[in-house]
Amino acid sequence: MDMIKVGRFISTKRKEQNLTQMQLAEKLSITDRAVSKWECGKALPDSSIMIELCEILNISVNELLTGEEIEMEKYDKQVEQNLIEMVKQKEESDKRLLNIEIILMVISLICFISIIVVMAAVEMPLWAKILIGVGGFIQLIAATLVSFRIEQKAGYYECQNCHETFIPTFKQSSFAKHKGRTKYMKCPCCGEKGYCKKVLVLNKKTK
Ligand SMILES: [Zn+2]
Repeated sequence: MDMIKVGRFISTKRKEQNLTQMQLAEKLSITDRAVSKWECGKALPDSSIMIELCEILNISVNELLTGEEIEMEKYDKQVEQNLIEMVKQKEESDKRLLNIEIILMVISLICFISIIVVMAAVEMPLWAKILIGVGGFIQLIAATLVSFRIEQKAGYYECQNCHETFIPTFKQSSFAKHKGRTKYMKCPCCGEKGYCKKVLVLNKKTK
C-alpha cells in the first residue's frame, strides 16, 4: 500500500469538496493533525472512520486504499489486492507488537531487579525504600498489563482441536495457564479446552 499516494489522493479529494483539513477533521470528530498525517503519508485513516471519510470525499474505500480512482472493469481485482495488502500489513504490525512486548517485559524486569539491588545495597530511610519498592512494583504491573493486552490483541489463537482461529477476551487470555505464548483456553468455536497456539494468520474454516 502506497501511503504517500493515498495521502495525496485524500488531499486532492478533500480540496475537490472545498474542505480545509480542519473542516474535514471536524466532520469526523478527529484532530486536524490526524488529517495532516494522512495527507503526508505518515498514517492511514483508522478503519473505524474509513467509511465515513469515503462518504465525505465521495470515493469508495477501495479507491481510498489504492490512492486513485478505479475504473469499473478493474474494480474487483483491485479489491482483492487491497484486501491481501491489508492482511499483510496487519500481520506485520502484529509481529512488531509481539516483539515490542518482549522488549517491554525485559526492560521492565531489568528496572525491577535494579531497584531491588539498589534498595538492598544503598543506605536510605525506610520510607524511601518503601516508596521506591512500590514504584518498581507498579511499573512491573503496568508493563505486565500492557503485555497481556498485546498478547490478546496481536494475531490470533488457534484451537488444536478444530483449528479455528479466534481472539480471546482480555480476561480469558490474561488468566489462562500458558507455556510461552501458547495458552490453555476454551475454544469459542468447538467448545473444547486445550492449549491454543499463537498464530499471525487468520484461519478460515473450510466447510
Ligand atoms: Zn476449537
